Amino acid sequence: MIIIALILINLILISFFNFKTILIILFFECLSGLISFAFLKRKSLGLYKFSSSQRIDNSNINDIQSDKYYQKLIDHFDFPIFFLDKNLEIKIQNNQSILSYGKNTSLPVSSVIRDYEFIENIGKFKKNPKFNNFIWKKELPERKTYKAQLKYFNNFIVLQVLDFTQENNSKKNQELYLTNLTHELKTPLSVIIGYLETINFHEFSLEENKSFIQIINSKSFEMKNLIDQMLKLSEVENLVKTKIKINVFETINRSINNYRELFKKNSVTLITDLDSSKNLFIDFAPNDLDIVLNNLLSNALNYSESNTTVTVLANLNIKKNQIEIIVKDQGIGISSDNLTKITEKFYRVDKSRNNLIQGHGLGLAITTEILAKNGCRIDISSDLGKGSAFKIIFPLS
Ligand code: ADP
Repeated sequence: MIIIALILINLILISFFNFKTILIILFFECLSGLISFAFLKRKSLGLYKFSSSQRIDNSNINDIQSDKYYQKLIDHFDFPIFFLDKNLEIKIQNNQSILSYGKNTSLPVSSVIRDYEFIENIGKFKKNPKFNNFIWKKELPERKTYKAQLKYFNNFIVLQVLDFTQENNSKKNQELYLTNLTHELKTPLSVIIGYLETINFHEFSLEENKSFIQIINSKSFEMKNLIDQMLKLSEVENLVKTKIKINVFETINRSINNYRELFKKNSVTLITDLDSSKNLFIDFAPNDLDIVLNNLLSNALNYSESNTTVTVLANLNIKKNQIEIIVKDQGIGISSDNLTKITEKFYRVDKSRNNLIQGHGLGLAITTEILAKNGCRIDISSDLGKGSAFKIIFPLS
């Protein structure tokens, strides 16, 4: 369009002016054309445009200028990026890759990232460029998972190394969570199905059939209890509750009163010393402290033999500026290597030892989550065979 317009203008000029004037006009036209061309060329040296497919239009740029440009560009990224040639030798590295792996221009990438899985996978990529996305693990001491992404880019192969540890762990945790949950549900469910199939009023007496029904009943409650705990955990993890002022003394007493009869029935003596919590108020989500105390009291009872003592103390520690609630038992105790694990979801110490005690290993996971959400923490100490102490700590601001 522009060229046609220019030709038309020139034809009009020829019909109006004499030959000398036309020559002068043509001279100025050529001069302005040259100046515009030079200007555009200079601009294009520093300007590389990305198209939607992320290709770089650098047809009129020499290689050294491209390398500098790529270098500048990839230095903006906070994960390692390598530009490799077709033999997978390193040609350009960004700052992050130099920080992580050192400057290694001209070396094969497999001699720089020395993990076995990486070397094996990069070999697969060389044979089949479609294999351009893989993960590998770096074992001790790092225990990290990395993800490699490879893309052809002009004459280069661009390798990005992404830290995939967190994503990988959360995926693994989710899988583990689901496996544990299905296992915990499957166990009572198989018992229920088994006894439902066994019930037979022709073959067994009324008493026998009644006992089967009782087992079905108790297993159904076990399942309901597990589902309730799961829902509680999910609520605690996902809901932000408004805190209210709660009276520490009243809340502890309320929980203890729920358990008094059960302790008596199991011949476990309950001692309390709560006087210093009188008139103490803390900010806490409604009902959450009740759940924490109920978990600790029921554990103290479940993991104690008869004729032992459970002590509940409330203490205002002025020196440390904190309120402490302690539930101490003389029960079976927890070994030091299990101590750090008992707050994990579904973790139960020595399942065979726990077999007679109902539970799914969720109580302490809920407890720690609630305490964390309310700005508190729990300290657990234990002596195997002698007893355990669970100390809830509320920092005072
Ligand atoms: P559970 O429902 O199995 O009791 P918890 O999360 O409350 O689940 O506790 C996890 C595990 O920690 C229990 O299975 C038990 O092995 C151990 N545990 C908890 N409290 C005590 C305690 N007071 N004494 C001994 N072991 C305990």
